[in-house]
Amino acid sequence: MSLIVMKFGGSSVGTPERMQRVAKRIMERQQEGNEIVVVVSAMGDTTDDLIDQSKGLNLNPPSREMDMLLTVGEQISIALLSMTIHQLGGKAMSFTGWQAGIQTDNVFGKAKITDIQPQRIFDSLQAGNVAIVAGFQGMSAEGEITTLGRGGSDTTAVALAAALKADVCEIYTDVDGVYSTDPRVVKNARKLNEISYDEMLELANLGAAVLHPRAVEYAKHYNVKLVVRSSFTQNEGTSVKEDAVMEQGVVVRGIAFDKNVARISIMGVEDVPGVLANVFGALAENGIDVDMIVQSGVLDGKADFSFTVSGDDKEKAISVIESIRSVVPYRETTSESGLVKVSIVGAGMVSNPGVAAKMFSEISKLGVSIKMVSTSEIKVSCVITAEPLNEVVRVLHTAYGLDTAEQAFVGGPSERR
Ligand code: ADP
Ligand code: ASP
Ligand code: MG
Repeated sequence: MSLIVMKFGGSSVGTPERMQRVAKRIMERQQEGNEIVVVVSAMGDTTDDLIDQSKGLNLNPPSREMDMLLTVGEQISIALLSMTIHQLGGKAMSFTGWQAGIQTDNVFGKAKITDIQPQRIFDSLQAGNVAIVAGFQGMSAEGEITTLGRGGSDTTAVALAAALKADVCEIYTDVDGVYSTDPRVVKNARKLNEISYDEMLELANLGAAVLHPRAVEYAKHYNVKLVVRSSFTQNEGTSVKEDAVMEQGVVVRGIAFDKNVARISIMGVEDVPGVLANVFGALAENGIDVDMIVQSGVLDGKADFSFTVSGDDKEKAISVIESIRSVVPYRETTSESGLVKVSIVGAGMVSNPGVAAKMFSEISKLGVSIKMVSTSEIKVSCVITAEPLNEVVRVLHTAYGLDTAEQAFVGGPSERR
């Protein structure tokens, strides 16, 4: 008997018909002789709708109340899915994050799981139930309800799989695996049979929404067998694992993009030790993740530097910088929103010079100027303006030999906004 964690994303349970299909699929897997723990997200666009509702009343609500609101979406799903399974003659029991023993730190909106005490899940399985756990939520030591960040149900699933020592964690979504890039942008994107944790982690961190980055981190750390597959087809899916087989000659494995990047520049900063520590320390304390950082040359003892943050954090980041102006004096700040980051990822890059140069030349051939660059052993990222993003991704996909001969994408309908 195997213990399987099955995670279903929002579009997989977006309508009553889909909920029924998912319930049947879960019961089939149970009838094969497996113990099943299900993690489910909020139905369809529920989370976005709740955010819109809050904006109608308060544009900057307390983050505690926001988490209280957003966790409702997943709670609707677990109860409805459990009822559907009962209606079909099965046995199921739903659990909120805290009932499932998921403990987190107290950072509302992007909490990290600190521990899982899954005794109630084991007891429920023992009693013959499918245990259905609300994704994306947990509880802090202070007894507050928290959320794990957008897309965080993947992380609930993988963390539970690790805590329960599950045999496999299956992520069911609206595409039938991990592709060389978002198959909704490049029609002849290639489905990958396997991908390494490290490459997947880069792709996820760089914007590939198919897996939440922290889910991949957990999977790597706890060596969880992870499979991404479609809830709409029976196709095999993609295995994410340590020792994924490298295709011969493949230097770039995938292309990711992040459509919500803002650049902030601080001009005329006194060039003394501790400036960067003060600025980025203050941003970190306020829960703002900084991505690329570039410092320009020093002139008359003053330096300029620029960094990128998520577009959602731009205003908050500027006000944090203003709040430390007495500690870090500067002439002015400027900012630019509506930027995107496009990245190429592949473990084979490290031994292949010229990979980055090719990226720059392909982008420049499209008449697009590159605003910022960052590189590591397995990725190159460029920040550009949003307008030609899809075209840039398609051109790079072709340039690095990632296109399939014919259309490969078989997926569920997109209901994304
Ligand atoms: P779910 O609601 O099931 O969690 P998500 O929308 O979070 O689904 O993730 C699935 C989406 O990720 C796909 O519909 C696809 O558009 C997008 N995506 C981005 N990059 C990739 C990629 N490299 N491979 C597959 N899907 C990708
Ligand atoms: N419902 C949450 C979101 O939309 C979590 C998830 O879907 O994973 O981000
Ligand atoms: Mg998701």
